[in-house]
Amino acid sequence: MATAAIVLVCVVFVLLALVAGVWLVGERGHLLLPSTARSLPGGARRSRGEGETPSRQPAGRRRYLDPLEGYVYGRWTNQYIRVLMHKIVPRLSDQGRQRLADKYHGKVLTHEQAKAIVQLDTPIRRDLEQIIPYPMARDFILNASPEIAAYECACRHARENPCSPTQVCMVMGNSVQFILEHNPHNSRRLTQEEALELLKAEHERGHVHSAWFKDVIGNRFYALCNCCKCCCGGIEMMTKYGVGMVASSGYVAVIESELCNACGLCEQVCPFDALKVNGCATLVWAKCMGCGVCVDQCMTGAISLGRDEDKGVPLDVRELVN
Ligand code: SF4
Ligand code: SF4
Ligand code: SF4
Repeated sequence: MATAAIVLVCVVFVLLALVAGVWLVGERGHLLLPSTARSLPGGARRSRGEGETPSRQPAGRRRYLDPLEGYVYGRWTNQYIRVLMHKIVPRLSDQGRQRLADKYHGKVLTHEQAKAIVQLDTPIRRDLEQIIPYPMARDFILNASPEIAAYECACRHARENPCSPTQVCMVMGNSVQFILEHNPHNSRRLTQEEALELLKAEHERGHVHSAWFKDVIGNRFYALCNCCKCCCGGIEMMTKYGVGMVASSGYVAVIESELCNACGLCEQVCPFDALKVNGCATLVWAKCMGCGVCVDQCMTGAISLGRDEDKGVPLDVRELVN
C-alpha cells in the first residue's frame, strides 16, 4: 500500500513537472506573459478595446478548452496546422470536414477590400451574419488604424516545397501582441505602409487575399492572409475535398472574349480551377470565388470582376462603417 502511494506521488510529481516545463516553454521562460494573461477566461473582459466581447464567451467546458486550444494555435501555429492538414483532415468524414469549416474559415477579399481593412479609420464591432455564411466565428472587431504583424504562413510550413516568401500571414487586432510576444523570431510588427506593400507584392504574385475567422480565437476575425493555391489548407479543403472552408468575395470574373488572345495564363493562375482556355477563356461560375487574381494577371485586360448576388455579400469595411 505504501509502495503504491509512493508511486502515485512520483507519477503526479512527474506530470506536474512536465506541465510546468511545457508551460515555461510556451511562455518563453516567463511565468505569465502579458498577452497570455489577457487571453485567459475573463482576461478579455478585464481589458478594454478590441478584447471586450462578453456576448461571445463560450459556455460550459468550451469556456476553458477554447482558450487552451487558442493558446496552442497561437503559440505553436506551424505544428497545429501541420497536424490538422496531414493527420486530422484526411481522416475526417465529409460531415466532420464541414463541422471544421463551420468553426474555422476564410472570406475571399478583393485587393481593394484587403487594403481597406489595413487602412480602417473607424472602429468596427459587428456580427457579420449576412457576410460570413457560417454558424459561428463571424465577429469582426477591429480598432481604427489596427495593429498588424506579419507572421509565418503555417500552411506553407506544412508543405515539403513551400512557396516563398513565407512571412505573409498578417495577424490583426488584439491577436498581434500575443503573436509578437510568443513568436518573436517568426513575426514582426508592420506599419500601415509596410502592410500595404506586402498586400501589393502578394497580389502581384497571384496570391489570394482572405480574412480568417476562428472559434478558439474569440469567434472572430484575426488574420488577413495571402494564400497561394499550392500551399493553402483552406483552398485545398475546397479543391481536394469539396468543402466550403472559404467563402466567395461576392464577385465573379467577367470575361470579354473579344479581348482574349487565349494565352492560357489565367487558367494557370486561378487558385480555384475556375477558368478553362480553349480558343478563348471561359469561366466555371460555380468554382469562381471572386478573388480577382486573374484580373491583374491577364495582360490584355480581358477580365474584370463583377458583383454577383448569388455569390454572397462582400466583406467591405468601407460599407460596414457607413
Ligand atoms: S490561410 Fe493563407 S496565409 Fe494564412 S497560413 Fe494558410 S496559406 Fe498562409
Ligand atoms: S489571361 Fe487573358 S488573354 Fe490570356 S487566356 Fe486568360 S483571358 Fe485570355
Ligand atoms: S476566375 Fe479569377 S476571380 Fe474567379 S477564382 Fe479564378 S482567379 Fe479568382
